[in-house]
Amino acid sequence: MRLAIIEGDGIGREVIPAAVEVLDAFGLELEKVPLELGYARWERTGTAMSGEDIKTIKGCDAVLFGAITTVPDPNYKSVLLTIRKELDLYANVRPVKPLPGIKGVTGKNNFDFIIVRENTEGLYSGIEEIGHDLSWTKRVVTRKGSERIAEYACKLAKQRNNKLTIVHKSNVLKSDKLFLDVCRQVASSHGVEYSDMLVDSMAYSLMMRPEKYDVIVTTNIFGDILSDMCAALVGSLGLVPSANIGRKYAFFEPVHGSAPDIAGKGISNPLAAILCVKMLLEWMGNPGASVIDEAVADVLQNKIITPDLGGTSTTAEVGHAVAEYVKYAL
Ligand code: ATP
Ligand code: MG
Repeated sequence: MRLAIIEGDGIGREVIPAAVEVLDAFGLELEKVPLELGYARWERTGTAMSGEDIKTIKGCDAVLFGAITTVPDPNYKSVLLTIRKELDLYANVRPVKPLPGIKGVTGKNNFDFIIVRENTEGLYSGIEEIGHDLSWTKRVVTRKGSERIAEYACKLAKQRNNKLTIVHKSNVLKSDKLFLDVCRQVASSHGVEYSDMLVDSMAYSLMMRPEKYDVIVTTNIFGDILSDMCAALVGSLGLVPSANIGRKYAFFEPVHGSAPDIAGKGISNPLAAILCVKMLLEWMGNPGASVIDEAVADVLQNKIITPDLGGTSTTAEVGHAVAEYVKYAL
């Protein structure tokens, strides 16, 4: 197993080392391949990522990624989008689960669901024309693209409570009818219990009754919006991990960005990045992955927390405390 490690910019350089300390605590045999990509490198050298870097990444099995500052230059090609395309990471997966002692906007703590977002087509097809009086973007829904995301979501549902919610807007966007039909067919063929929701009522329902849901599958832009919204259910951007999964590769990144406002101070919250390590271990099929949940609960209960959660601990202290718990528990 080879793991590419991309700290990136800003707080990526703080939270990833903390997460790697936790990963190291598992004592696994894996080769770590550090890569320097992003804005800082772009400023220094004029390239954020080279073709050689892509080759190196493709020589790995998975990627642990921090964050990259969005480059304010029209010539800049997004590192993230390029990697997503090159590795064909078609499923964006975000678990939404409360953490002990942390209250989100609704004050509820009885939910536990996963958003599975189609990551390669839909409104983010990249097929568009920008004009003076008319601009348009093509919204692409394919049978193949819908099938593979539905398959992924159904497999996940089978491992959980066998319940799938298909989120769409097929009453207005006729292209979504294909997505909805394919998801229904795939769910039936797997014996997964399913229902469907229009995305607008889903947004409302997720805030009012988040406990109703288990696995949610949806198209690219709806998943993008709903998953950021759901970070507010958990409570802090610094607590939410995500995975981008393909047939061959997987890519793990915290939901937050590079947070230039707090970068370099050593006070960023590493728990989202640490929960990415948990997702990585799950992807690897490591049965010890859930120890990270226990360890995170333990540091939260003992108030070893960063200022965003009202504490005084540093990024490194939190990472170290989680790593020590893991070593002790294993
Ligand atoms: P980018 O351009 O890289 O997306 P951003 O300015 O959008 O960066 P985010 O990282 O998305 O910044 O963060 C938004 C806000 O949340 C910032 O004020 C930041 O300080 C805070 N924040 C984000 N992640 C964390 C974290 N891990 N720990 C503490 N605060 C965080
Ligand atoms: Mg941002």
